[in-house]
Amino acid sequence: MKVSEFISYGRQSIDEDDINAVIDTLRSSFLTQGPKIEEFERAVAEYVGVKYAVSFSNGTAALHGACYAAGIGEGDEVITTPITFAASANCVRYVGGTVVFADIDSKTYNIDPIDIEKKITAKTKAIIPVDFTGQPADIDAINHIAKKHNLIVIEDGAHSLGANYKGSKVGARADMTMFSFHPVKPITTGEGGIIVTSNETYYKKLIKFRSHGIERTTYGDSQGGWYYEMTDLGYNYRMTDIQAALGLSQIKKLNSLLDRRREIASIYTEALKKIPGIIIPEQLPDTESGWHLYMIQLKDANRKLVFEKMRDANIGVHVHYIPVYWHPYYQNLGYKRGICPVAEEWYERALTLPIHPSLTNDQIAYIIDTLKNLI
Ligand SMILES: *Cc1c(COP(=O)(O)O)cnc(C)c1O
Repeated sequence: MKVSEFISYGRQSIDEDDINAVIDTLRSSFLTQGPKIEEFERAVAEYVGVKYAVSFSNGTAALHGACYAAGIGEGDEVITTPITFAASANCVRYVGGTVVFADIDSKTYNIDPIDIEKKITAKTKAIIPVDFTGQPADIDAINHIAKKHNLIVIEDGAHSLGANYKGSKVGARADMTMFSFHPVKPITTGEGGIIVTSNETYYKKLIKFRSHGIERTTYGDSQGGWYYEMTDLGYNYRMTDIQAALGLSQIKKLNSLLDRRREIASIYTEALKKIPGIIIPEQLPDTESGWHLYMIQLKDANRKLVFEKMRDANIGVHVHYIPVYWHPYYQNLGYKRGICPVAEEWYERALTLPIHPSLTNDQIAYIIDTLKNLI
């Protein structure tokens, strides 16, 4: 039996409350630069347990802002993982820095702190760990290394809003953490992103960077009420109030959306751990993933064939991600294949199964059965 509708690997969960929240803002005085932005930022900061949150037009712009705030520039090296969306590395290039790739841990698929330490040089300025699939990177170990070498930690939490690490929410421990609100991510604003931090200096820089490099200060008193100064080259990376209204409505449901993702993940794990040809993702102790992705490894089966057969059965399997430095842009910069052997070997066997809150139990059973039969 083949299902008639394509089951995508991820998708948004939008209900009538979300729709009404957007409509209310469309009827209000502010479509952008209004009250919903600050309300949303406060909600995210409170949820994560940090002092500040600065919203951006998307997660990539937010990462660009974080690299600016961290003072990364020409001659600086920044360490990240090759198993991520390219934006985690590209943001370093935007500010003129050099990307250095550290290998992953084959069990959790996250950046390996031991390899981070091996890649540190006198030029290293920052580390960008990614909470890949929603599983928190080992942030205590990474912070420990960062402290020893005086590095800034920018966590890419695009997958992990609401994930837990040793009793705190992801975002509470890094210098800055980015969350993305793209429709496949834990909650959505259409396009959108945010940086959370408890550091006031970073906060002020992020605010300035997102709005043309303009500083809001008290010059107005002496110069006149119209006066402002542009003190650095910034961008227009602002989120709209329409997006923020959607985000505010979405974050109220984040925990229940995550509960469903965790339920689906445990159904997969229970069923798939018994199949000898499949390796299931291991979890670090004392952490709880947000399960943005459920990724397995195929021990011997031909990944391309399994992928194609699953797609033929209308199951939207995927592969996240092609090692970043394999892309022609990075190859042209001189990165060689083989620099992160664990990541490359992992990539050859990796397969993403559909996971999102609106997946039904029947669909999950169908995915598991189809996969079992293929293996
Ligand atoms: C989605 C994503 C981003 C970029 O977020 P956008 O909001 O799409 O710009 C960055 N890093 C990772 C790991 C992502 O999955």
